[in-house]
Amino acid sequence: MKELTWQRVADELVVAFDPSEQIVLADPSGQVEALFRLLREGTRDTVRLAGELAEDYPDVTATEVESAIEALDSLRLLENAEREPLPDGQVERYFSNLAFFETFASLDRSAEDFQRRLLDSHVVVLGAGGLGSTVLLNLAGLGVGRLTVLDHDRVEPRNFARQFLYSDADIGSLKVERAAARLLAFHPGLRVRTVARRVTGPADVAPLLPDADLLITGVDRPDEVDVWVNEACLAAGVPYVRGGMLPTRVVYWSVDPGRSACYSCALRADALATDGVRTASVARRLAPQLPAVNRGIGPVASLVGSLVAMEALRYLTGFAAPAAAGRFRVVDFRAGGTETDQPWPRDPDCAACAAVPTRPAPAGVD
Ligand SMILES: [Zn+2]
Repeated sequence: MKELTWQRVADELVVAFDPSEQIVLADPSGQVEALFRLLREGTRDTVRLAGELAEDYPDVTATEVESAIEALDSLRLLENAEREPLPDGQVERYFSNLAFFETFASLDRSAEDFQRRLLDSHVVVLGAGGLGSTVLLNLAGLGVGRLTVLDHDRVEPRNFARQFLYSDADIGSLKVERAAARLLAFHPGLRVRTVARRVTGPADVAPLLPDADLLITGVDRPDEVDVWVNEACLAAGVPYVRGGMLPTRVVYWSVDPGRSACYSCALRADALATDGVRTASVARRLAPQLPAVNRGIGPVASLVGSLVAMEALRYLTGFAAPAAAGRFRVVDFRAGGTETDQPWPRDPDCAACAAVPTRPAPAGVD
């Protein structure tokens, strides 16, 4: 049993584990509480639990005990006492990650299994600017084992308002080189591949995708770049997460190939939209004609980077289903951080969606 506590209130047990959830179990006979006491010791299998519980409750059958354990496991209150630990040196580094994953662990999947999944993952990050620098540091902290970073820019003083991956001494150097050096200094166990080039079409993205688990993009230019990334990722069956920022708003969305609508579906939905929405879409299409001034400040870039890293964590571990698949999630800071959710429909005639290879079902998603 996980580290939890409970209190009896009349015929019920109030269980405290995740403070954001309340679990109340009916227990008029006291059998559940007796089972809890045995489970807490973490030393018995189902057969022994049933045998010892029968000493005080002779009517309880082994099948009932098995059902109770299944029910408690589905509430994520149990974990397997016999599980493979992480190697020495990783337990301390990932201490908080393991504590986080313990909330979602079950008898079949330990907190260590979640962490191992991250260590075995390969994420491609397009752009090491405002979004990328926050995302990369978060992925390194999560322990994503392999990173491929693409960017063509060099570090400039104007980056420092939001790109905290870099330092003054990095001015003039290629961002990918300095990003790799910083990430490896932070975590020498990572594998970081750098690609110093622009994205000029799907062919610049496709070679990065074999054996990638996920792509993250913060590249804004040229205007067609999202279509190119979408096309390459769908053809390879690799999910991707996109984040972007406006002066007081951030938006992020993701595409789960074959499971969610894709960006081309969104463009088509936009073109077919009714008048009220069309006004908004025309305004959006006019936006690229404005001067390309990045007005993103540190808090804005850090927040969208963190939201994108969290979506990445959902894809990589399946601790929860993706929250932004086929939907724009917009956070407005001027009003204090209110979030709006704008799903778009899947286009049955979408050529990009039709190119998706068959993919196995995701593991561990509730
Ligand atoms: Zn599509």
